[in-house]
Amino acid sequence: MALERTLSIIKPDAVAKNVIGEIYSRFEKGGLKVVASKMKHLSRKEAEGFYAVHSERPFFNALVEFMISGPVMIQVLEGEGAVLKNRELMGATNPKEAAAGTIRADFADSIDANAVHGSDSAENAAIEIAYFFASTEVFPR
Ligand code: UDP
Repeated sequence: MALERTLSIIKPDAVAKNVIGEIYSRFEKGGLKVVASKMKHLSRKEAEGFYAVHSERPFFNALVEFMISGPVMIQVLEGEGAVLKNRELMGATNPKEAAAGTIRADFADSIDANAVHGSDSAENAAIEIAYFFASTEVFPR
């Protein structure tokens, strides 16, 4: 498997629940390294731009409102097969369908407020990382 990077966001619901550290621990125990990190309160424009791929979906406006409802923690995770590994650690989009022991099963309340975002492909990961981080803000090691 290749060494990859993926973009992760701890969403406003999980930040409000004070579980940033617990979620970081899942990443680290899962073999992923946090190589970049910033807390941010997204503007509407930033959230709309980030989720532009979903702009035609019925849940788009609600998703943007949710993502700007409070600060988020944004990180780049690095490791072997990081994109898929992070998706495994996150669990299914709908926490009711998420496997036991996954981040969403343990910390998400609903399909809308579902605790974390993770890139779904290496290609999207590169785009999403560049959306939030300059190359000088990423520290591989
Ligand atoms: N979402 C939602 N309602 C839905 C489907 C998705 O609010 O019916 C939100 C949810 O926060 C999800 C995000 O839109 O995480 C992006 O959806 P996607 O299908 O890409 O899921 P993910 O990749 O986050 O698992």
